[in-house]
Amino acid sequence: MTESPVDVFDRLVQVRPPEHTPVLFDTACVLGGSIAGLLAARVLADHSRRVVIIERDRTDPQGLPRDGVPQDRQVHGILPGGVDQLERWLPGITGELKGLGAVSLAPDRSVMYIDGIEQLPSRDVHTLNCSRPLLEFAVRNRVLALPNVRKVTAQATALEYDNGAVSAVRFVVDGVEEEAVRVDFVVDAMGRASRLPDWVEQAGYSRPPLHRVPTGIHYATAMFERATGPDAAPPAFTGTMFPAQPGPRGLTAGLLIPIEDNQWMVGLVVHGGHQPPRTLEEFRSLCDELPPAFGKAVGGAVTREVLNFRQADNRRRDFVGLAHYPARLVSVGDAVASLNATFGQGMSSAALHASCLSAYLTGEPDLGLPAAWYFDLLKVATDALWGPSAGSGAGDAEPAQDEEASQQQWAMGQLMQASLTDETVADAFKAVAYMRAHPGTLADPALLERAIDVNKSADTAS
Ligand SMILES: Cc1cc2nc3c(=O)[nH]c(=O)nc-3n(C[C@H](O)[C@H](O)[C@H](O)COP(=O)(O)OP(=O)(O)OC[C@H]3O[C@@H](n4cnc5c(N)ncnc54)[C@H](O)[C@@H]3O)c2cc1C
Repeated sequence: MTESPVDVFDRLVQVRPPEHTPVLFDTACVLGGSIAGLLAARVLADHSRRVVIIERDRTDPQGLPRDGVPQDRQVHGILPGGVDQLERWLPGITGELKGLGAVSLAPDRSVMYIDGIEQLPSRDVHTLNCSRPLLEFAVRNRVLALPNVRKVTAQATALEYDNGAVSAVRFVVDGVEEEAVRVDFVVDAMGRASRLPDWVEQAGYSRPPLHRVPTGIHYATAMFERATGPDAAPPAFTGTMFPAQPGPRGLTAGLLIPIEDNQWMVGLVVHGGHQPPRTLEEFRSLCDELPPAFGKAVGGAVTREVLNFRQADNRRRDFVGLAHYPARLVSVGDAVASLNATFGQGMSSAALHASCLSAYLTGEPDLGLPAAWYFDLLKVATDALWGPSAGSGAGDAEPAQDEEASQQQWAMGQLMQASLTDETVADAFKAVAYMRAHPGTLADPALLERAIDVNKSADTAS
């Protein structure tokens, strides 16, 4: 790949739909019908006469939580970069979600604190807030309404190969019969526990290596009635994080978002050896460590009790440079990278993978070979998110090991400090945090110079 990662990322996050969409397949198959699988199916619908999604869950038309996605009861925010990508593939989806009750907030209604310090508001970013099941419901409705996409409720069990390429998918319906569908292209969207690496290895291909970084974070989420009268808490999203050190009871982040049906969804993230709150009393008490908006929100009537979830690690699978891998086979979403949930990147990352897939297929690749170009794109997207996500366990900030790393840490400190008062630096930071720009954009010397000047002026003034 000759382009720099910054340029590749910049192209991937563009929002225009592709102009050239060659039809390459008779049947394409997506394994897993959650966010990543649905968005991959949307892209494949441009390139295949028919697209079959194999998903083991019977999906509820009302958008309720489901067994195949146990994390969907926890607070889920979608980053602005992810909203851009959703709109790219499903134009008008934001409006549809708002029609279903999702809450869009203007920049001055969203507040974020880091280490207890209030950050500058984003100048032009409206956030979109709803529960994860509602988001998936809207995406699923749109994708399954495409005339060439259909879903089969079944459990994928294996692949078949012909001449070094995937040629069929085997699946089980209602736990009994095993069937096979002939396919020209397969996308693995089976999530972080995907069995695909076992399947390809058993068939004699290279197993994509799995990298894990322990996080050991606990999530606890509860929902509360959101009053709408004049005395109501402001309908703001409030995020607060303690990246340097967790609070005394292990609290590393609190997330407060207004969602459909006049509810607050409140998520608390507890680090390491600390126990997450399991009762309402413990949950409310932990909110005392957070800004007052949390206390006000959790003081209301409970609409859903506290539910816990433990995320043991961040993990990624690398597909670049595998010695022997089947052609016509790719992966998307958490099957590629399952990131630290605190940063809210997962669904946006899945949407970015859909754009990687589109870039690969619109390039009319040689389908007799493994999808090397796709894997290169995927690596750029994953590297951009993995760095911040994998180094983010609260309390585990390591001192820099060498001169270059220590320079980088110093520069990052300057940028962070300046972002508290300077809108240009804050915008650059947020563009990265919101997945609209590659982290490499923060290495711009002009930006660092500006940050140093801002910090010097602040020192002189104080
Ligand atoms: C606690 C927590 C909080 C999070 N918060 C956020 C957040 O705020 N924002 C955000 O963007 N992301 C968040 N995430 C991450 C987000 O949940 C995932 O990144 C996202 O769901 C990944 O989508 P996916 O489609 O790749 O996988 P999944 O959503 O895990 O779906 C995998 C699908 O594959 C199906 N499947 C699996 N095996 C088979 C099989 N053999 N046959 C057929 N179907 C199969 C499953 O039923 C399921 O539908 C959070 C994660 C956690 C754990």
